[in-house]
Amino acid sequence: MSQQVAFIGLGNMGGPMAANLAKAGFTVKAFDLSAEALEKAAQAGCQTFTDPCEAATDVDYVVTMLPSGPIVEAVYIHQQKLLDAVGKHTLLIDCSTVAAENSRKVGVEAEKRGLHFIDAPVSGGTGAAAAGTLAFMCGGEPEDVERAKTVLNAMGSNVFYAGGHGAGSIAKLCNNMLLAVHMIGTAEALQMGVNNGLDPKVLSEIMLKSSGCNWSLEKYNPYPGVMPNVPASKGYEGGFMINLMLKDLGLAMDAAKGSNSAVPMGALAQSLYTVLKHQDERQGMTDFSSVLKLLQ
Ligand code: NAD
Repeated sequence: MSQQVAFIGLGNMGGPMAANLAKAGFTVKAFDLSAEALEKAAQAGCQTFTDPCEAATDVDYVVTMLPSGPIVEAVYIHQQKLLDAVGKHTLLIDCSTVAAENSRKVGVEAEKRGLHFIDAPVSGGTGAAAAGTLAFMCGGEPEDVERAKTVLNAMGSNVFYAGGHGAGSIAKLCNNMLLAVHMIGTAEALQMGVNNGLDPKVLSEIMLKSSGCNWSLEKYNPYPGVMPNVPASKGYEGGFMINLMLKDLGLAMDAAKGSNSAVPMGALAQSLYTVLKHQDERQGMTDFSSVLKLLQ
């Protein structure tokens, strides 16, 4: 019999992730508050449920992909009370982007009940979710992360062990804070070059082979027309929304405060993305590389 996975939260990320699990041969028992999301999951080969606890009864794994930490806590502990519904053999995997405290809280509550939980937030957006090439940054017991690989490898291409409960969430926030900083730096360097008569394509080629090379320049050039198939060349549509970057920067600033860390560049990035959201015609739904517009 195939292994069973309950998948809770079938949105832009969770929908394609659940579909990849079904494609890989897992029996996927799917739940979401949205009827539309459930309908799509059914079309992708998942069994659908109207109660998350029913979906999670007697499964090998539970995967959650939810909008926020308070919702993750509500689903596991306070409201839907998944922790009281699953069997001891079930491994619980939360892939949502949340504060480390949320991950630790669920981890502690799980342990109290003799259950196993890991935080496993992802790097890679909806494209990587659909392609099955996400990177997972995991926190929890090493043997639980090892066991989770059976499921995670069907949705991604890299699984990292970061440390105990909450370590995956911290790694994710560090990564996305750096992403915001190098995206802004890349945009301002390109715009300064253009303002001084350079062709952004030529400048990009030069910096790609020089010490300014970075992921934003290499994979996600913010200057329109330099790279095909990136949001900048499609009116900044699709991609990773300003709102989601602001969510992650907010969580990163909380983590910095909680650990007395100096994050001057991250704080400036948060301010710039707040200004960008105020100016955005799509109320923060535009891709985060549109930060270039602030600098024009
Ligand atoms: P989304 O809003 O598209 O999907 C969230 C889904 O959760 C929705 O379908 C919603 O109906 C469902 N939901 C909300 N409360 C629920 C509950 N109590 N029970 C069951 N379902 C519930 O969000 P998304 O873009 O899929 O993001 C999910 C998580 O992944 C977030 O934590 C986000 O920060 C993170 N993330 C997103 C991206 C991205 O590019 N979209 C990239 C990396 C990480």
